[in-house]
Amino acid sequence: MKQGLLIVLSGPSGVGKGTVLKELMKDESLKLSYSISMTTRKMREGEVNGENYYFVSREEFEKAVDEGKMLEHAEFVGNYYGTPLDEVVKLRKEGRNVILEIEVQGCKQVQEKVPDVLTIFLVPPSMEELEKRIRGRKTEPEEIIQERLAKAEREMKMMDQYKYVICNDDVKLATDIISVIIKRHVEKMNEAE
Ligand code: 5GP
Repeated sequence: MKQGLLIVLSGPSGVGKGTVLKELMKDESLKLSYSISMTTRKMREGEVNGENYYFVSREEFEKAVDEGKMLEHAEFVGNYYGTPLDEVVKLRKEGRNVILEIEVQGCKQVQEKVPDVLTIFLVPPSMEELEKRIRGRKTEPEEIIQERLAKAEREMKMMDQYKYVICNDDVKLATDIISVIIKRHVEKMNEAE
């Protein structure tokens, strides 16, 4: 069986990666599987362990890194986030196209290890709109919001590391564009084999 594609979706906090991802996952023809990350961040209301993330302690996270079990990992606003390697390898072997929703440092590590990774960066229509979306979430204290906004500014400067930059002004449009990109890349990968 042909190995599935590896896809990275990045973009600043609040840009709507989760919403776009949810829409993409509805399209069975894309054969997408979402890679569940590991994090040391506290669970938000409504999140489920093993569904949104694997929520672990710093010790558990560091052990997984030391044992070489992570494809990539990074520290983001005081917490660790990373992609467990085994699941990604298994799913790709089964022919699934695996999508990672990760930040820019992690993407760089993946690009070094998997040169044919498809990288997509979502941008907001404006920074004002992004701030509105981050504040609208109302789940975090002002201090964390400020950190996320500062981080967003820095992340926006890294977008040229990505193959595609898509504006998430309209979720359906952004999702449709990404679907076309994924389908074409899968075709190209199959043509090359
Ligand atoms: P949040 O705390 O809002 O869920 O995520 C914060 C940031 O961490 C987001 O930019 C998200 O894309 C990123 N992130 C989530 N999982 C991973 C991961 O496994 N690795 C890396 N490098 N970043 C991740």
